[in-house]
Amino acid sequence: MISVSLKWIAEQVEGRLIGSDCTIDNVSTDTRADLNDALFIALKGKNFDAHDFVEQAIAKGAAAVICEKQQNIDCRQIIVDNSRHALGRLGAAIKAKVAPKTVAVTGSNGKTTVKEMLAAILSIHHPVLATQGNFNNDIGVPLTLLRLQEQHKYAVVELGANHPGEIAYTTDLVKPDVAILNNVSAAHVEGFGSLHGVARAKTEIFRGVGSQGTAVTPRDSDFYPCWQRACTEMNWKTFGLSENADVYATDIELNSEGHPYFTLHLGGETRTLELKLSGRHNVLNALSAAAAAKELGISVDDIVSGLQQVQPAQGRLTTIKVSDHLRIIDDTYNASVASTKAALDLLGSYPGYRVFVLGDMGELGADARAYHEEIGEHAIGTGIDNLYSLGVLSQSASEVFNGHGGKHFGSLQSLVESVLQRLTEQTGKQPVTVLVKGSRSAHMERVVAAIQQAV
Ligand code: ATP
Ligand code: UDP
Ligand code: MG
Repeated sequence: MISVSLKWIAEQVEGRLIGSDCTIDNVSTDTRADLNDALFIALKGKNFDAHDFVEQAIAKGAAAVICEKQQNIDCRQIIVDNSRHALGRLGAAIKAKVAPKTVAVTGSNGKTTVKEMLAAILSIHHPVLATQGNFNNDIGVPLTLLRLQEQHKYAVVELGANHPGEIAYTTDLVKPDVAILNNVSAAHVEGFGSLHGVARAKTEIFRGVGSQGTAVTPRDSDFYPCWQRACTEMNWKTFGLSENADVYATDIELNSEGHPYFTLHLGGETRTLELKLSGRHNVLNALSAAAAAKELGISVDDIVSGLQQVQPAQGRLTTIKVSDHLRIIDDTYNASVASTKAALDLLGSYPGYRVFVLGDMGELGADARAYHEEIGEHAIGTGIDNLYSLGVLSQSASEVFNGHGGKHFGSLQSLVESVLQRLTEQTGKQPVTVLVKGSRSAHMERVVAAIQQAV
């Protein structure tokens, strides 16, 4: 963090300072981290109330604490009504002080991918602060803003949501110059009631954008009219697969590794490029990032060069060549309906024998079974050879696929044996590709590891 005085911090968080002023350049919410000369903010979580750790924080070298009750310890303290809100206010104040050009990214799928694309583009000439990992909630977003340094000319911040109001809160802290709503699909539906509820919650991102700012949304979506209404007070750019959109792609093909190449149309200019990421859906992610970068005045050449650098993150459609005959596509990081369909489309584009191994897609609410059946239907449409399920809900998908060879497994071991059997049958005939996917809670990376070990 940039150096600021404790007094300035107390003013920003509207707290009462007890003790002398000092300089702060490091904030932490966790006593397990390095606390030397840090400001410790005591938060209440599901497991712990960090007010119980204040003494420990001071013993570990913290220079001051933010807390909700005055502590009976001789140390600098800022007393606030709500330490979670204080963290938010401090993040927002640091962002306003450093004032980088800022892009916020939300959506059901591809937030992290778009963030990585933008970070690659923007960092060609200048230092960029980007969200690390999945620090995208009401705690992660302010902690991200607190990492800003003077040299950061740009910030790219991921905003996630599990419930309505969460993005309204984080976008207000970030106050983005450009806000991307990447897409809306059935993901985390549980906390929002319905798909419309998901769309409404994502649209909250535009509340943080001023009249000089820009909204970026897909052109081809059922929710297009909803965004049209939400974006009247700001600039608005769309991306898509036809020339109706401001930024669009044509001539999309996949190379032998599943990486798309296409023609990008942006601000009257065209370029052809090839991504290092797999699947056609990543073309949409690239368009979304390109539209935002263009709004920040980045040249088309830099946009193309940044996009072409981005490598896949662990567990997001990463290809593992196990042998000359067997390729595993590891998409075990997470699963929603849209990302599962996107992964199936990729699998369908490969030659040879194709098996889809599906674990449960979580947090889909009351219609969870129907969503899994939809995946079974979609799998039939892609022409793949087999669908194996492992999980109570995903059984619905393999049942729909049943006439085409779909099968449900009660154990990891029996599933892996079946994959190996298919491999033996196909050896000498055609290559085998196994795509493994499921929600985080399904831990389908176990399947990837078990197949690799067994071959
Ligand atoms: P999370 O909500 O977990 O933070 P995210 O929105 O950050 O997810 P990514 O981590 O980029 O998304 O990708 C997660 C999964 O979604 C991967 O399986 C990826 O292949 C898939 N995916 C990425 N972009 C899209 C897209 N535009 N449409 C459909 N699926 C996508
Ligand atoms: N915490 C801490 N030291 C510990 C355990 C927890 O400072 O040894 C902090 C933690 O970083 C968090 C708060 O206590 O800010 C609440 O912890 P909890 O695990 O309940 O948080 P959750 O992630 O569940 O919200
Ligand atoms: Mg993410």
